[in-house]
Amino acid sequence: MADLAMPERCSAAHESDPTPCLGVPDAVTVVDAGGTEVDGCVPHAARLFAELCDVRLTTGPGGRDQDATAALRAALELPPSVWVGEGR
Ligand SMILES: [Zn+2]
Repeated sequence: MADLAMPERCSAAHESDPTPCLGVPDAVTVVDAGGTEVDGCVPHAARLFAELCDVRLTTGPGGRDQDATAALRAALELPPSVWVGEGR
């Protein structure tokens, strides 16, 4: 169930991750091995990338050339489910 107090976020934001989006909501596209694509902001795409196996990042429809690279660099520094325990 959606939290009505939560502002709308990008499609890459995990439902249990309470952090807001930063930047445009379609800066980066996360693509899984089956070809399913999810557009997200840079930090949420990075978090999704860190969470999943066998996915890749490309520049999203609203993104700039460097956004996918920025998300990949951020993801390499993140453990899976980094938001668990944040803000407590
Ligand atoms: Zn986001």
